[in-house]
Amino acid sequence: MTLLSPGHVGRFAPSPTGPLHAGSLLAALGSWMYARRHGGRWLLRMEDLDPPREPLGAAENQLATLARLGLHADGPVLWQSRRHAAYAEALARLQAEGLAFPCACSRADLAATAGIHRGCVVPPPQDPRTGSVRLRVDDRPIAFDDEVHGRIVQRLASSVGDVVLRRADGLWAYQLACVVDDAFQGVTHIVRGADLLDSTPRQIALQRALGLPTPHYLHLPLRRDARGRKLSKSEGAAAIDGQNPLELLRAAWLALGQDPAHWPGAATPEAALAAAVPAFDPSRIPPDPVGGAIDPARHCDAQHSSELADKG
Ligand SMILES: [Zn+2]
Repeated sequence: MTLLSPGHVGRFAPSPTGPLHAGSLLAALGSWMYARRHGGRWLLRMEDLDPPREPLGAAENQLATLARLGLHADGPVLWQSRRHAAYAEALARLQAEGLAFPCACSRADLAATAGIHRGCVVPPPQDPRTGSVRLRVDDRPIAFDDEVHGRIVQRLASSVGDVVLRRADGLWAYQLACVVDDAFQGVTHIVRGADLLDSTPRQIALQRALGLPTPHYLHLPLRRDARGRKLSKSEGAAAIDGQNPLELLRAAWLALGQDPAHWPGAATPEAALAAAVPAFDPSRIPPDPVGGAIDPARHCDAQHSSELADKG
């Protein structure tokens, strides 16, 4: 696997499950500002690995919205739907090294046996190109220092169990595709929503298993609706594509905890963004209002489906 670029590289990686909303804009602007403030590059990746959940034209619509907001990537968009060979290669390597294994257990099986793979003791004959495959994890603590949330520690075996890399339906799991592509794109600094905070230890375990570097992480606060729920498309968050780009950017700037006095008056989104970069201060970004610590009670599979629904 080749790293494409030295130096600071950030990215925004939406799933095209609908139009961008205020929550995804926060991740887009936060990652853009952070990369620009550090003189880095900013890349786009379309995480289009779940066709049944992706309305026709949603990806193009998201890209058009980003362009209208003045958030232009330094290079072509990476489409995950064109990266199957890379994921297959990573999976084959993990299996060859004994770090990943085909799994015939259902979620209910594993819940009933406290994570012991009884269904895999005598595995049914399986086509190696289909069926679920998991990364074997242990219970040594995995720790990282998030720039907003501080030190995060998680023991994977007891909190989330062996990590799904390829789903039973044959689709690539988010964790595998994300890790392989962050390395492929040479991403050094990941700025994304705090809904992915408890995916990060799993991604670090996977980076280590694949011999890939671990990026620096900053998880942004989640925007919430009037009832305190996380904004997401599935909860009916309003699409932002019809709204005034300068007003949207200013609102996102404030939601990132930035100084209102430093949001410039400008005629175009591009001019406003460029003028705001020197004032962007990551240390002003507030933590997730519900607390950034990982809640071990959250179940990995439930969490996983929400990740797929709404990543930043
Ligand atoms: Zn199993």
